[in-house]
Parts: sequence; structure tokens; C-alpha cells
Amino acid sequence: MIYIKTDEEVEIQRKSSLLVGKTLAEVAKIIRPGIATIELDRVAETFIRDNGAEPGFKGYGGFPATLCISVNDEVVHGIPGNRELKDGDIASIDCGTLMNGFYGDSAYTFAVGEVDKEILLLLERTKQSLYLGIEQAVVGKRVGDIGHAIQKYVEGFGYSVVRDLVGHGVGRNLHENPEVPNFGRRGSGIKLKSGMCLAIEPMINLGVKEVAQDEDGWTIRTKDAQPSAHFEHDVVVRNGKADILSTFEYIEQVLNKK
Ligand code: MG
Ligand code: MG
Repeated sequence: MIYIKTDEEVEIQRKSSLLVGKTLAEVAKIIRPGIATIELDRVAETFIRDNGAEPGFKGYGGFPATLCISVNDEVVHGIPGNRELKDGDIASIDCGTLMNGFYGDSAYTFAVGEVDKEILLLLERTKQSLYLGIEQAVVGKRVGDIGHAIQKYVEGFGYSVVRDLVGHGVGRNLHENPEVPNFGRRGSGIKLKSGMCLAIEPMINLGVKEVAQDEDGWTIRTKDAQPSAHFEHDVVVRNGKADILSTFEYIEQVLNKK
């Protein structure tokens, strides 16, 4: 079943989604070459708890950390650890919060130090594809319209869309129906209704679309070892224009000052 959130529920969800953006801004302040990914995780967990929420991912399906940190050819679900980020890396940082019974879920891919122009373009265009997908998250469109908009845009640059992982409904559960693929046919899939909350999250590869899971049982990486980018927002479907519940504003304020 697909939940339709009341306006009151949407406002509770917004607080949780905003906290994710604020947490990622704390990460943005300290991310740099030489920092261990576990250090970013500690800062995020402390910040979330200090703000009256719980990490949404920790313990979810057995995941051991607050953040999913996926570096370079890792697509999603990377586990923070002693690995230090290097100059020229990119790191998708995905964060979940649970606050007043509702989950926030948002992700941003950071450039670490000096990153190749070609890879910076992959980040920029993946973020742009997210907003193109969000433009389709309006009453009367279908879930396939979201994926179609994302796919058409990124494939125009020769990139590929990961098929094995998709966006999702979000609310009292981290993953709710419907699934929101980042590919699809225009006019296909379920009809979007006002009050549906969706986590839209394009995962876009520089090379082939195929991915595989590491032996840790979590980390997903590209089969050709080429980089992958990932951006995610929580949105609520509305008439004419989706309402974006999460935000990159705090993150980008920090990055622009660096
Ligand atoms: Mg996420
Ligand atoms: Mg998600």
C-alpha cells in the first residue's frame, strides 16, 4: 500500500528531512583529504542525537553505522571505517534520521580536494537529474515519468543509470512503496497523488550500469570500477510543483565558503 500523508505528518517528516541536510552540512565542514570515513560518521551520529533524533540507518537491516559512505566506484551502502579519503576522491554520503516517528533520507556526493573535471561534471549532472526527476513528482504524472526524466538526461552524456537500486516511498518506514526507479517509460507506473512522500535518488555511473556487492554484504560498486554519483531528496507530491522536504542549502553554504 502507498501512504498518503496528512499535512501534519508532512510537517513532522520535514523536520526529520531537514535534520539530514543539517547533519550533512556538519560533514561538509570537516570532509578533506586525510580524514577517516569513521570520523565523519562519529560527527554525524553525535549531531543527530544532540538534535533529539536517532540515526535512521544504524541497525537498519543490521547496517552498522550512521552514514553510508561510498567512495569513487562504490555506488551506495559503503560502511565507514579507518579508510582515509584521498585528494581527488568523490564520496557519496547518505544519511538517515528518525525523529518523532518519521524518517528523513538524503544523500550528497562530495568532491574531496581536487577532482578531475570529467568526474565533477558527473556530480553536477547527477544532481541536476535529481531536480529534473523532482519536476515530474506532481499530481497527475506517473512514477515512470520521474525515472524517464532522469534517464533521458544522464544517458545524453553517455552515463548509465543503476538498475538494481531505486528510490522509494519514505515516512514512518525508511523504505515504503512505491519503488521509484531512476529509469523508465514516460506515462508508466502508478499515478502520483498529493501527499505521497518519495525519496528520489539517482545513482549514475560514468561507465557501465552493472554493479556488484562486496563480500561485506553491503557495499555496492560498479562492475567496471569507474566512478558513480548519488544525490537524494525527500519530496512530497503536490499539484503543479513538488515540495522538497530535505535540503542541500546548508551543505552548499559550507562548501561555497571552503
Ligand atoms: Mg538515502
Ligand atoms: Mg533512500
